[in-house]
Amino acid sequence: MKSTAVAAARTALKTGSHLVDRVVAPARGIVVLIYHRVGHGSGGEMDLDPGAFRAQLEWLRDTIGVISLDDVVSRVSGSTPVQPAVALTFDDGTDDWHRVIAPILHDVGVPGTFYVATSFIEHQEALPSSGHPATWSGLAELAATKLTTFSSHTHHHILLDRLEPTAIAAELDRSVDLIGERLGVEARHFCYPKALEPSAAADAEVRRRFDSAVLAGTRANTVGADPYRLARSPVQRSDGRRSFEAKAHGGLGTEDRIRVMLNRRRYRGATV
Ligand SMILES: [Zn+2]
Repeated sequence: MKSTAVAAARTALKTGSHLVDRVVAPARGIVVLIYHRVGHGSGGEMDLDPGAFRAQLEWLRDTIGVISLDDVVSRVSGSTPVQPAVALTFDDGTDDWHRVIAPILHDVGVPGTFYVATSFIEHQEALPSSGHPATWSGLAELAATKLTTFSSHTHHHILLDRLEPTAIAAELDRSVDLIGERLGVEARHFCYPKALEPSAAADAEVRRRFDSAVLAGTRANTVGADPYRLARSPVQRSDGRRSFEAKAHGGLGTEDRIRVMLNRRRYRGATV
C-alpha cells in the first residue's frame, strides 16, 4: 500500500514538473546525468535495468551527443555559448560498474565519469543502500577502457557540510591518494555526497584540490556556470522514456527542487 502511494506521488510530481516545463521552457546547455547502479538487483529508483540503460546511451549518442566531464568544464568556462550536450556520471562504486556498466559504455562508445567513495572499495564494505562494492581490480579494468574518468566522492561517503576543515581535508586527500595508488590515475573532479550544498570550508577545500564539483539542480549548465557547482540531473527507474528525454534536455527541474527540500529535512541529523 505504501509503495503504491509512493509511486503515485512520484508520477504526480513528474507530471506536474512536465507541465511547468511547458509554461517556462528549460534553458538549453550541457546536462550532466547522474547514474548510481545498473542491474545491481536492488529494485531501487537509482538501479536501472541494463536494457533501458543501453537504450538511453544509444539515444544520447545518436541525438544530443555525449561528452567527457573535462569537456563540460572547458566549455562552461569558455566565452562562447555552449551547444547542447550530455555528460554521464556514476556515483558511489558498486560492482555493477565493472560487471554491467563498463561493457555497455564500451559497446556504445561513450565516455563516463565515476565518483568513488574509496573506503568501501578498500575495505570491501557495503555501500549506502546495501550496495555491493566494486573491487580495485574491476575498476582498473574499467580505467583501461580509456572512456572513463575516476574522481572523488570522499573516502567514507561523508556529508562534508558538517565537518571541520581538517576532517574535510583528510576525507578528500585519502580518496585522491587511494585512486592514485590503486588505479594510477589522478582524481581531478569531485562529487558532494547526497549533493548537499557545501559549507564555506568544504567549498574552499574542494576548490583547492579539484577542477570541478557537482551538486544536484536538474538543469542544463550554460557558459559562465561555476565549475565547482555544476548541476546534475538524476536518472530514475520510474522516468520512462518521456521523462528521461526531458531530463536529457535540461527539464524536470521542479521535481528536483521539491526532492532537495525533502532531503534537507531527511539528512538533518545524518553524517553519511
Ligand atoms: Zn553517493
